[in-house]
Amino acid sequence: MKQFNRLALIGFGLIGGSIARAARAQGLVGEIIATARSEQTRARVSELGLADAVVKTNAEAVVGADLVILSIPVGACGAVAQEIAPHLAQGAIVSDVGSVKGAIVRDMAPHLPPHAHFVPAHPVAGTEHSGPDSGFAELFINRWCILTPSEGADPEAVERLRTFWAALGARVEIMTAEHHDLTRIAASDPTMWRDVFLSNKEAVLEMLGTFNEDLSRLTRAIRRGDGEALFEHFSRTRAIRRGIVETGQDSAAPDFGRPHAHLDKPKD
Ligand code: NAP
Repeated sequence: MKQFNRLALIGFGLIGGSIARAARAQGLVGEIIATARSEQTRARVSELGLADAVVKTNAEAVVGADLVILSIPVGACGAVAQEIAPHLAQGAIVSDVGSVKGAIVRDMAPHLPPHAHFVPAHPVAGTEHSGPDSGFAELFINRWCILTPSEGADPEAVERLRTFWAALGARVEIMTAEHHDLTRIAASDPTMWRDVFLSNKEAVLEMLGTFNEDLSRLTRAIRRGDGEALFEHFSRTRAIRRGIVETGQDSAAPDFGRPHAHLDKPKD
């Protein structure tokens, strides 16, 4: 059943292309206006016939759209929000699909006008493929889609987006952006980890710096045969390990309790 008159899709890779295919298959939108960064992708989207119109610019794409979804890299979302802001229709719902949410809210929200409703989203679904040919209509079926509206968000807009994702087949959850970014909801998704690292550059670099320093100290101690430094290092790591077990974060069993099926087998 039709839920939106005009869907503007900015970015047409795995996620954008899957949204287009699924929305079409379910008859959820009157028309789809698509755009992407390169002429090559835009030409391919036209060729595939997955949009009613393919336009050159992000600004053109959003004109008259009641739902706008950015399916582009997280780092590009702020600039695109700024670019489309003056062209958004009254009451348009603006959303994204980024794997991290805090950075999206920080980068996009300040640019969006009060007459548009910003409801960030993260479909926890993906494959290792990318580009306009990689999407498929079933991608979101039974996969989580997390919406992270801010406190003052319009409940009707949130509900409309929830209904849209549910119709694409997703199991929709609503939580704060902070809670989302702490939650390891897609532990093995390389796209998510790429985005988490790029969006938390400073913290990650600081942590890697500390790690590097520790490693250099250890290397130096071994090279110099500095027994005292090594003793101090291993006392410290043992205390850290014990602390982790005491707070119930890991097992005290040998090899952290990991099963070793081949060792557990009874001997012939
Ligand atoms: P993708 O297949 O590489 O597609 C990205 C699309 O964004 C391309 O069409 C690209 O255009 C376009 N684009 C990039 N910068 C743009 C800009 N400034 N303006 C307009 N279009 C722009 O990537 P994807 O896998 O669909 O990922 C897109 C988003 O989905 C990311 O934010 C990611 O965090 C999120 N996500 C991905 C997965 C996953 O497993 N892949 C899962 C959940 C969420 P060109 O082709 O012309 O370069």
